[in-house]
Amino acid sequence: MTGRIVAVTGTGTGVGKTVLTAAICTALRRRGVDCRAIKAVATGVPPGAEAEDAILLGRATGIAPSEAVLAIFTLPRSPRAAAAAEGRELETEALARSLEAAAAGCDLLLVEGVGGLLVPLAPRWTVRDLLRRLDAGVVVAAPAGLGTINHTALTVEAARGAGLRVVGVALVDAAGDDPAFVAENAAQIAEQCGVPVLGVLAHLDDPADLDALAEAAGTLDLSALTVPEPDATATVVAADRRHVWHPFTQTSDWRDEDLLVIRSGEGCWLRDESGRRYLDGISSLWCTVHGHAHPTLDRAAREQLGRIAHSTFLGQTHAPGALLAEELSGVAPPGLSRVFYCEAGAAAVEAALRIALLAQRHAGHPGRTQFVALAEAYHGDTAGAVSVGRSEPFHTGLDPILFPARTVPSPHLDEAASLRALSDLLEREGDRVAALIVEPRVQAAAGMLTHSDGWLVHAAALARRHGALLIADEVATGFGRTGDLFASAGAGVAPDILCLGKGLTGGYLPLSAVLTTEELFDRFTAPHAEHRTLYYGHTYTGNPVACAVARASLRLFEEEDTLGSARRLAATLGRLLAGRVASLPGVFEIRTSGVMTGIELREGETPLDPALRTGRRVILAARRHGVVVRPLGDTVVLNPPLTMTDAEAEILVSAVGEAIEEVTGGPG
Ligand code: PMP
Repeated sequence: MTGRIVAVTGTGTGVGKTVLTAAICTALRRRGVDCRAIKAVATGVPPGAEAEDAILLGRATGIAPSEAVLAIFTLPRSPRAAAAAEGRELETEALARSLEAAAAGCDLLLVEGVGGLLVPLAPRWTVRDLLRRLDAGVVVAAPAGLGTINHTALTVEAARGAGLRVVGVALVDAAGDDPAFVAENAAQIAEQCGVPVLGVLAHLDDPADLDALAEAAGTLDLSALTVPEPDATATVVAADRRHVWHPFTQTSDWRDEDLLVIRSGEGCWLRDESGRRYLDGISSLWCTVHGHAHPTLDRAAREQLGRIAHSTFLGQTHAPGALLAEELSGVAPPGLSRVFYCEAGAAAVEAALRIALLAQRHAGHPGRTQFVALAEAYHGDTAGAVSVGRSEPFHTGLDPILFPARTVPSPHLDEAASLRALSDLLEREGDRVAALIVEPRVQAAAGMLTHSDGWLVHAAALARRHGALLIADEVATGFGRTGDLFASAGAGVAPDILCLGKGLTGGYLPLSAVLTTEELFDRFTAPHAEHRTLYYGHTYTGNPVACAVARASLRLFEEEDTLGSARRLAATLGRLLAGRVASLPGVFEIRTSGVMTGIELREGETPLDPALRTGRRVILAARRHGVVVRPLGDTVVLNPPLTMTDAEAEILVSAVGEAIEEVTGGPG
């Protein structure tokens, strides 16, 4: 655990941040607080010279100037530009770690930012990103005079927009403004921004005079910096235990277990309420694509929120929904040109089943009422989705609300047998089948059971030959998880109906979609009296914020070559797993498709006693090593964000390897 980090950021450059930082540091040290001040980056420092700001901060802290600044560049520009001019790039993660290390050695580290919050430090990395990465509180240094309300309000808004906690605003009266005017500004800022104004730092003739600095800071209310920040964990856990019912969570386990209380995330990392970071090894249930808090996706959500949060899609439309549909059609497997929105993956499957059944009916096949599914399939938890994805003991007792579906063996262990069974079934009763539903390439929730593209091609051809529609459920496999944008297209199969969810919004917001061909859509188009309307929909169908983020996510796939990252990550994971995990004695098999990974644990060939809850114990051990993963029975699943770096993949795999060793009894 590091000491607390508070950043002093300006409403602009040259507003008196350094003097304010030095004054606060000096005053707190004289009050016995183990406080240090560091400037993260200084620019405009000629080679061999000391940064002026570092000299002042060094004096305030009692350290050498060279220790009071972490990175120095010659050109007086933004750190990004100044570094580029020297043919360099600021190493942001290394910078964050150095600051954390400095914070570990004291109670309170004051980090002087560079200019304002949105000053670029490196490509796609601003001061604000650094402060978010550090989980820093923020003191805003603002000039006391004319124009300060607007700049301060913008800075506070930018901080809040990134989830930063604003400790307060300090006005720096460098010009010796009229005190009544300064007080008026302070009152206005407090009211308009809803943040405390810590006070006004008076003009100083000689900022290097530590006594004068301490005296000036004496007028500031610094209690918010010295009172420890409350850890919300206990409050959240108490409310949770009293009132929450968690999905797929055994109540008796949850009562005894330490609850993970996630507060924030950035990139591939999650942070809990106590400030501890965890690598997100399962993309927050297989959905985070480009990482958490991606600036492009954040911006898309905020911009749309600024316009309207929700407007119904029943008989009306809006730009995000209509344009996303067009863009999805452009990247979907060939022929899928119509988009129907829902929120959950299960709801998309539910709609897909209805569309298939009614499309057959409207085409003159009312007798085609059956659905064929794979054994061990999972398509979600609503009644229709469970009917085609039933597994015991999960669904024991639900019969009265389920419909009977036909199943054929999973292709995972024997593709030929699975195809034979499908062929026999269709020969016998194909004229009664509405559709075949499959998870292309990976039966994910079954434990990442994989099959070949060839199996899929054959199964699709069989269904078509017998007049059945093909529903591809790509809620799990869509959006790059298997290395292609969509697994079905990657396998060379164009389904009649495609279900999407999870990664559709980059993992940001609940949105799912059913894509169909124009031909199926047309079957529902008829005079009103024929009642071919698709009487199906949800209140939040096509939510515009979710659609706007989904559009931004699709653009990112292009702009950031996300599929390239996904393929590189898959190769890296494969190499790391082979080296670190595959030969562990408790590991029976590692199944992968793209980044989707299942590590099945057994004792030799023998499946483990479910009562031992080995998978669950492994993921709890992994959590202690700073990694979040989830088991499917005794299969440990890895399914990280597609943008995970090699270094992060290494942390993930070695933590999981260690966890497996710990639980299954060591490397042998
Ligand atoms: N289909 C598949 C293939 C899935 O893996 C899942 C969820 N894991 C679903 C449907 C259901 O999606 P949701 O949880 O969003 O309802």
